[in-house]
Amino acid sequence: KSEGRNGVGVYTPDSGEREEHHRRLARDLRVALDRQEFTLAYQPIVDLPTGRTVKVEALLRWTHPTHGPISPMTFIPLAEANGSIVPLGTWVLNEACASARAWQRAGFDVKVCVNVSVIQFSQPAFVATVLQALATHDLPPHLLELELTEGIVMKNVEGVRATLDDLRAAGVGTAVDDFGTGYSSLAYLRDLPIDTLKIDRSFIKDLVTDEGPSTPAMTLVEAIIRVADVFGMTVVAEGIETEAQRDALRALGVGCGQGYHFARPLPLEGLLASLKLDQPADSTP
Ligand code: C2E
Ligand code: MG
Ligand code: MG
Ligand code: MG
Repeated sequence: KSEGRNGVGVYTPDSGEREEHHRRLARDLRVALDRQEFTLAYQPIVDLPTGRTVKVEALLRWTHPTHGPISPMTFIPLAEANGSIVPLGTWVLNEACASARAWQRAGFDVKVCVNVSVIQFSQPAFVATVLQALATHDLPPHLLELELTEGIVMKNVEGVRATLDDLRAAGVGTAVDDFGTGYSSLAYLRDLPIDTLKIDRSFIKDLVTDEGPSTPAMTLVEAIIRVADVFGMTVVAEGIETEAQRDALRALGVGCGQGYHFARPLPLEGLLASLKLDQPADSTP
């Protein structure tokens, strides 16, 4: 039944079958790049005071020939486990740089934010791959930001520092993704050249209840903002779904936000249309 057209997630939650399903997906991942089964979706990140799009996060999408769309939460770990994340990650970087260059040509100076897996980041050639992608697509480095997980930041601190230093020197931005869900040591964070903290959406979810803003949740977000301030980092709040959440985050002074309230991840053409709406022709360079 896992071969059927309507087989998306239909397998019973029996762990043996699930394992078999994942084994097949992992095998299929190895050829999926050659078969052009991947695309990127693009989600705006807006400046909260003005509502303007300042960055765009590139999110990988896989349409499996028989199972249909597979969530990155499912296939990224499989791609990490069998090494296919390395060529896949390089493809994402190049595709994202090409898109950002196209936006720039259309008059929109928005950064593209690319998720990077720890396996990719640990490759000796990682920085060279990033620089190559920028050069190939003629993208200025300040229009690229790499999103790293707390796991990366905490691993092998010396090697990580050297890589981050190289990226900083090249002018490429860095962000810690899903901040607050991992085990970041504040001492390490202070010492690393990181530009942005992305507050995980689990903190945003509880921000406003039916009775209004929740004091403990607000206090927690406030504390993260302070940490970012002290370290000279900017903040992006993830997973903003309501106007009330946006207003609360604005009031706290959070710089940027991302979430379904503003826009869902969009195909390339949809993103460009949204940029055009967002920044009318007379205000673009
Ligand atoms: P992430 O980097 O934290 O990306 C944000 C995720 O939250 C995306 O899920 C996005 O669609 C979703 N999201 C955005 N706004 C909202 C909202 O308002 N509410 C809710 N409930 N969700 C929202 P997606 O696209 O399924 O990606 C999941 C994760 O997969 C990403 O989390 C990232 O860790 C990973 N991922 C995606 N693309 C790549 C990639 O190219 N490379 C690597 N290594 N990982 C990727
Ligand atoms: Mg991300
Ligand atoms: Mg995130
Ligand atoms: Mg997240």
